[in-house]
Amino acid sequence: MYLITGKQEAYQNFSVKSQAETIISIRWSSDGSSLAKAVEISPLYSTASGNVPRAFAHAPQEESHIKERAMMSDARASKHTSAAASSAPLSISSTNVLPFLDISPDALVIVNPAGTIVMVNRQTEAVFGYARTELLEQQLELLLPQRLRAVHIAHREQYFSSPHTRPMGIGLKLVGRRKDGTEFPVEISLNPLLLDGALHVIGAIRDMTAQRIAEHEHLQQLEQIRLQAELINLAHDAILVRDPVSRVTSWNRGAEELYGWTVQEAQGRITHSLLKTRFPSSYADVDEHLEHEGQWEGELTHTRRDGSSVIVESRQMLVRDEEGQPIAILEINRDITERRHLEQAEQVVHAETVARLAFLQQVLDALPSGVYLVYGPDARLLLANRAAASVWGAEWQADQPMLEFLKSNGIEITDAQGSPFPPSKFATLRAVQGGETVLQQQELIRRPGGSSLPVLVNAVVLPAQRRWSGPLPETEQQLPAREAVALVMHQDVTALKEAEYLKDEFVGIVAHELRTPLAALKGFADMLLVQTARGRGLPLAEWQREALEEIELATTRLVKLTEELLDVTRLQAGRLHLQRTPINVVPLVQRVVMLLQQTTTRHRLEVRTTQPELLADIDPGRIEQVLTNLIGNAIKYSPQGGPVTITIWEESAARLVGFSVQDRGIGIPRRQHAQIFGRFMRADNAQAWGISGTGLGLYICRELVERHGGQLWFESEEDAGSTFFVTLPLVSAPQGDHEVPS
Ligand code: ADP
Repeated sequence: MYLITGKQEAYQNFSVKSQAETIISIRWSSDGSSLAKAVEISPLYSTASGNVPRAFAHAPQEESHIKERAMMSDARASKHTSAAASSAPLSISSTNVLPFLDISPDALVIVNPAGTIVMVNRQTEAVFGYARTELLEQQLELLLPQRLRAVHIAHREQYFSSPHTRPMGIGLKLVGRRKDGTEFPVEISLNPLLLDGALHVIGAIRDMTAQRIAEHEHLQQLEQIRLQAELINLAHDAILVRDPVSRVTSWNRGAEELYGWTVQEAQGRITHSLLKTRFPSSYADVDEHLEHEGQWEGELTHTRRDGSSVIVESRQMLVRDEEGQPIAILEINRDITERRHLEQAEQVVHAETVARLAFLQQVLDALPSGVYLVYGPDARLLLANRAAASVWGAEWQADQPMLEFLKSNGIEITDAQGSPFPPSKFATLRAVQGGETVLQQQELIRRPGGSSLPVLVNAVVLPAQRRWSGPLPETEQQLPAREAVALVMHQDVTALKEAEYLKDEFVGIVAHELRTPLAALKGFADMLLVQTARGRGLPLAEWQREALEEIELATTRLVKLTEELLDVTRLQAGRLHLQRTPINVVPLVQRVVMLLQQTTTRHRLEVRTTQPELLADIDPGRIEQVLTNLIGNAIKYSPQGGPVTITIWEESAARLVGFSVQDRGIGIPRRQHAQIFGRFMRADNAQAWGISGTGLGLYICRELVERHGGQLWFESEEDAGSTFFVTLPLVSAPQGDHEVPS
């Protein structure tokens, strides 16, 4: 028995490379060339890597030259080792081998050709949980799971028929079974062996549980690293690692795409010279910051491979080793070139907008009329000129909703006659809430001091703006995309009103004074015609009768004109009073239609309704006047004749009765729709057709309907016809036993 010491490689040459081959046979001759005795070499201890720093060499029959051979040169030993691999089975005696078996860290089991265990070492007991006595004389298959035993018996028998040294189950996952039934992975190597002269097999069994777990964990770690590498490559950002002297050690796909150098090209290059980095202040500053703070964030300008510049948002982190020495800098660079350019462009646009708005403000301030811009359904102020403040008699704060401004300053808006006006009818709110273009609406502003100002209001909806910025309290104000913006103009019409008042007074007086002579004229003309027709007095010549008829027609028109003029002056002066009473409007409409049907043969008037009774609280005379005017117009402005349809319906939810008067006449040109309710307003096409009129009827009709709390509007297409709509409030409570005048 010899203790072999020395360099590890020396033992490798004896093929003591791993515990799987702990026992081998070598032979050599005394001159070093021919074969001699057998020797066993087993490691004293081994490490996981299989290094064998010390080993026993044991020759069953001691030979004096073995000691020398154990110290022989590496080259020769190697030669002998290859020869040893094909040697005959090792022969050992059962008497003294056990202590050596116990030295092995592996479980060693010796079995005879019948598969009976004849010897086990201590490690076998530890690994399988059996006492040595429980194993001896047992079948080797005891150490295997039940399901593998039959197969193993066949393998074992085959092995004994040609025994040789080999690891067992190459490429297979071998499994052992402990006494408690649990299974565990093993690695086994087999050696034929002559034990006391009889052929046996020694198996070295190693419990691989810990190693498999370690392997599994290692594989998981490798997978994780692979995934992280994938992830890094997936990022659009440039991710790079550089060593303490700034040489690139890692360069992801994002960096390749951003800068144009492949990882192979970038590796080892100094980053700031490769990328011609422009630092916010200096490289030294960044470096110092990294050194002290461990990280740095900021904007850098790099140059790409193609020479173009790229602005990046850079985040860098210094990594130190256990001793605190810098080992790497991790750097993530995000391309913000486009964002920066957009911001710069936006700044330019913003500056221009501010300048333009300042100019606009100057222009607006120079205007004598009050002008302001409002947005959103509650009409918040965007911009107002100086005159606007003097119109209101108070300063409207930017962004303040209109009603809040009016309330907080005690300002009231009424109609031209000073009657209360629901906010939904304010020109400004109609524009922002309903998207209407309101032209020349008369409003009266009662200012904080008590003075009143009559104004004509024009409110125009502007195309939706994305962003308003400028000399407003917030220099940049974001508007929701669909918020309506309206431009409103207030024209002070005090002087006009005064002139109008005088004119109305004058017209009123004239109309009043004309009434009596006109009544006399019309009365006498009628009398002459009627009495002559009855045969009283001398018969009239044809020309005399025609002249009288003309006088009668002209005076009828004049009477109508004076009535209308008087109505206008009454309305203007607020002297028109309604005599309201609950009345069924269906027969009222039918009566007006019947009367007017008698004035024409070329038109077919038709009333459509499903309701026999609709009670409205109205002045019947005035509503009759409205219907007469609307149906009269439908007849008058359909010179070719045709149907005139009057529809009556109920809007029960809103408690309204509705009328519509539809004709197929000349229609109203679209450009004149907004003005058609103005006084003396006549459409161009009506005049071109030579149809006579005063342009006062619709004005009076609207005033009358609105004073009833109703609405009057129309839809019209030139050369296609018009439909006028009226709504009036129904009486609120059902009046069961009410007598219906008709
Ligand atoms: P008048 O008929 O006396 O001119 P109105 O105030 O009743 O006055 O009508 C104003 C104008 O509106 C008319 O001159 C005409 O141009 C237009 N108009 C009114 N009703 C109709 C209609 N049904 N079809 C076409 N034009 C109409």
